[in-house]
Amino acid sequence: MDLEQLFNQYKVQSIQGRYITLENIEPILIQFNTKDQLKIIGKSVLEKPIYSFQIGNGETRILLWSQMHGNESTTTKALFDFLNVVNGDSALAKQFLDRFTFYCIPMLNPDGAKLYTRENANKVDLNRDSQDLSQPESKVLREAFERFKPHYCYNLHDQRTIFGAGSQGKPATLSFLAPAYNEKREINESRLKAINLIAGINDVLQQYIPNQVGRFDDSFNINCIGDTFQSLGVPTLLFEAGHFANDYQREETRKYVFFALISSFAILSENDVVSNGINKYLNISQNKVVFYDFIYKNIKINYDGIEIITNFAAQYKEELIENQICFNAYIVQIGKLENYFGHIEYDANKALYQDNYDNFPKLNQKADFYLVDNIKFVNGLMIK
Ligand SMILES: [Zn+2]
Repeated sequence: MDLEQLFNQYKVQSIQGRYITLENIEPILIQFNTKDQLKIIGKSVLEKPIYSFQIGNGETRILLWSQMHGNESTTTKALFDFLNVVNGDSALAKQFLDRFTFYCIPMLNPDGAKLYTRENANKVDLNRDSQDLSQPESKVLREAFERFKPHYCYNLHDQRTIFGAGSQGKPATLSFLAPAYNEKREINESRLKAINLIAGINDVLQQYIPNQVGRFDDSFNINCIGDTFQSLGVPTLLFEAGHFANDYQREETRKYVFFALISSFAILSENDVVSNGINKYLNISQNKVVFYDFIYKNIKINYDGIEIITNFAAQYKEELIENQICFNAYIVQIGKLENYFGHIEYDANKALYQDNYDNFPKLNQKADFYLVDNIKFVNGLMIK
């Protein structure tokens, strides 16, 4: 299967970038809804509709939900690209629809999506609410789970740019987890199904993004939705869309999420699942916090007449300003940077640091500064 070609053919062009809201996806859902597949299954705190889209007649039931965290939109984009495939008339679409019934909740947290926050409008992290079910969005997902009785769950998220796949300086462009179902993190039959499927997906992805696939931390927390569904005996896969070089809009990563979705269903429908993927799964590099967006090395700083050579790091904050996501770089670490990497790194070669304040980098200050004599950095980046 030519995944690149498939993606180019079916990518939904009308959604791009990081800020994906209900207004963006509603027209696409309406356009896809040719056979009454679209339903409103509940309302958010701010009374916005939560949609489901069901398609397929196969016996294997797949439940997928995205944007449970409102500012995590990459998997939503890829989910629409995938829905565009199965809503078409290709042989692949027929193969999938004969084998599977897909139940998708493309935006579980529409209020958080609008506000560009992880939490819902009550400032509750829905992925810590799977036992309390205190929020309407949590109840909607739980009811969908109980009604649909999935054979597999796909829990679709984004992760921050701080994560590497292992400690070798490769970003975790896509990370996976078969969540634990108990404190001991044992592997039972249903968790093994998720592990085996992830092992197969990883085999495919390594061909495209070698060493950029991570395995997410499996500490058990029953308040997380994946751990809850796994503990209820349904194989559950966590997807975490992450950073690809220079791809802050996550359009490249979107493609690899699409590859992962398509591959997983190809593996399942062709009965191509590895029978014991535990070692393969454990061989996937562990997710590690090893990155900053920017690292500046060998900077000379003059602290009251004492000159030192040091390093510092800056990180983008994603800020919603007038309906746009702005990436604003702030200084977040000074000194201690052994074993860390920058997605962008500069070596100052002992040039002197200056800024418009006190001429030394301070935490939470904007990454706007100079290296004497004439190199200027604005919002983290060197201006040529
Ligand atoms: Zn998330």
